[in-house]
Amino acid sequence: MIEFKNVTKRYGSKTAVEDASFYVKEGEFFVLIGPSGSGKTTTLKMINRLIPLTEGYIYFKDKPVSDYEVHEMRWDIGYVLQQIALFPHMTIKENIAQVPQMKKWKEADIDQRTAELMTMVGLDPDTYKDRKPAELSGGQQQRVGVIRALAADPPVILMDEPFSALDPITRESLQDDLTALQQEIKKTIVFVTHDIKEAMKLGDRICLFNEGRIEQIGTPEEFLTAPKNDFVQEFIGYQREENETIGEFIRADSAEAEEAVYPLVEESTKIEDAFKVFAEHEAVAVRTAKGNKLLSRRDVFKHLSDKRGDSA
Ligand code: ADP
Ligand code: MG
Repeated sequence: MIEFKNVTKRYGSKTAVEDASFYVKEGEFFVLIGPSGSGKTTTLKMINRLIPLTEGYIYFKDKPVSDYEVHEMRWDIGYVLQQIALFPHMTIKENIAQVPQMKKWKEADIDQRTAELMTMVGLDPDTYKDRKPAELSGGQQQRVGVIRALAADPPVILMDEPFSALDPITRESLQDDLTALQQEIKKTIVFVTHDIKEAMKLGDRICLFNEGRIEQIGTPEEFLTAPKNDFVQEFIGYQREENETIGEFIRADSAEAEEAVYPLVEESTKIEDAFKVFAEHEAVAVRTAKGNKLLSRRDVFKHLSDKRGDSA
C-alpha cells in the first residue's frame, strides 16, 4: 500500500530521515515510534507530500507519490494531527463533512455518514452535531478529529501523536475506540507516537526511529523477544524474565472465555509459546484453577509494557 525505498530528507545540512525503507501492507496498523526529533513527523508528512523528499522513492498503491495530483491524493489519505484542529466557527457536523462536501457528496449521504461516524465513537449525533467544538471536551473533540479523517472513507489514514495531548484516562479510552474501530473498518493506518505502551497496544508492526535512522521494524512480539540492539532494548525498557508464563497476565477483571471459541492454553505456558498462538489468534482461553479466562493479544502487550513502569 505504502512503500519507502531508501528515502532521505535533509533540511539544509541537517539530515532528518536517512535511507529509510519499509513497506506498509494494506489493512495494517503501522506505528512509527522514536524519541523526539527522530524523524517520525517528517516521515509521515512525506507520505502525503506535505514535505518533499530529498532522495529515494515513496510509492502509494504502487505509483510514486509524485505522480499523483496532490489534492486528490490528500482526499484519499485521511490525516489526524496532534493538536485538536477543528474549525472553531463550524459545527461538529460541518467539520466532519468537509472532505465529503469537497467531493460533492449528496446532502442526504453526508447526513447519514456523519451520524454513522459519530455513533461509532459514542457521540450521539442529535446531541452533538450542531454544537461548536468549544462546547465539547478535549477527548470528544479529538474523537471528532479522528472520525473527520475517516469521513470520505479514505483507504489510508495518517495519525501524528493524535492522543498525546490528552489526559491518560481519555487517551486509553480513545486507544480502545481506535482498536475497535480498526477491527470494523480495516484501514491502512500509519500512526506516530513516542509512547511504547501505545505502540505495543495498537500496532500490528512497529518501526523504531533513532536520529533519523530505522533501528528495527517488527511485530510487538519481535520487539519483546528479539530486540536488535541496545538502543531497541533500552527503548522497549522491558527485561524479559526467564520462565515468564501466560498465567502471570491474568487480571482480576479478565473475562471468562469459552474454549470452544478460543484456543486453550495452560496457565504454565511460556510467554514465547503463547506468542506463537497469538500469531494466529487475537485471543486465547487460559485454563486456571477456577475456569478459563479470556486473554487478548492486546491485553498481554498492555500488561507487558505496564511492567516497565510509566512511560514518558
Ligand atoms: P519527530 O516527529 O520524531 O519529533 P521530526 O520529523 O519533526 O521529528 O524532526 C526530525 C528532525 O528534523 C529534527 O531534528 C528537527 O529539528 C528537524 N526538522 C524538522 N522540521 C524541520 C524544518 N522545517 N527545518 C529544519 N529542520 C527541521
Ligand atoms: Mg513529531
